[in-house]
Amino acid sequence: MLTMEVPWNLVKSRIGGEPASVRMIESLEHDYLDRLVEDLPQVDSMVGIGGGMANDAAKYFAWKRGCSLILVPTIVSVNAYATPAAAVREKGIVHYLGKVFPKKVVIDYKAIQSAPKRLNTAGTGDIYSCRTALFDWKLSHEKTGESYDETAAAGSQLILDRLVSNANEIKNVTEKGIRTLVELHVETNRVQTLAGKARPEEGSEHIFFYALEELTHRSFVHGEVVGTGIYVLTRFQTAEEDTVAGVMDSMGLMFRPRDYGLSHDGFIKTVLHMKEYSQQNKMFYSILDTIEISRQDAEKLWEKLSA
Ligand SMILES: [Zn+2]
Repeated sequence: MLTMEVPWNLVKSRIGGEPASVRMIESLEHDYLDRLVEDLPQVDSMVGIGGGMANDAAKYFAWKRGCSLILVPTIVSVNAYATPAAAVREKGIVHYLGKVFPKKVVIDYKAIQSAPKRLNTAGTGDIYSCRTALFDWKLSHEKTGESYDETAAAGSQLILDRLVSNANEIKNVTEKGIRTLVELHVETNRVQTLAGKARPEEGSEHIFFYALEELTHRSFVHGEVVGTGIYVLTRFQTAEEDTVAGVMDSMGLMFRPRDYGLSHDGFIKTVLHMKEYSQQNKMFYSILDTIEISRQDAEKLWEKLSA
């Protein structure tokens, strides 16, 4: 069993049984995980209990050992429990390794509801990102001839519709809200598999996140920063950033820079770094390839986001 102190205390009285071994996970660094794979005893199943870190570590372990996998997400802020690869760090840089499908994903509503609400509503970031991602994918299809899968794109649109129509349940982290988030995380993974790429869910809004991490070397709640990215990139895609802000507020997604302690300078630098980041890292084609962002643009966005 791989877990962390807080989630383990939440669920240990309810799991019904004694695990062969309980290990608190400390990092997702590749070396650390490989040592764990060597150290831990022979087990039939690996159970990952907690947030992204515990679930990713359990996936990596199950993949390396070839044992079965059970995931118990205690927050739904990231979709780690719904994707087959483990997000492993190599000196802090994320790499996706392995392919493993859990035998079971256990949703413990009580545990999830006991976490701060914003950690769960952050789970909407990687779903609502379908909106900006679809725009970029279609743009690339038109401008570069990149393959575009109508069925996957339609699936992605349905995900968006369902997300928005359940905004209130999600904001209040009700059982229905949690179930919706979980099903939509699974569904986004399904449409990505169908498309054979991340395009239906990942677009230029994620480049805001990557550029920010590169500049600050700080770790953030992924979905909240992706939310800022959705706002910023929507400004350049369709100028519907106010609509998007309304939707994100209705889902309780904390997407404004001050919500997670990002300063004016940090924000401006990130907005101005996005295009460069995309080109340097040979990222997918997106709206960033068609625009120049000025300092005034960035300042105007900051002003609106801090109003
Ligand atoms: Zn993401």
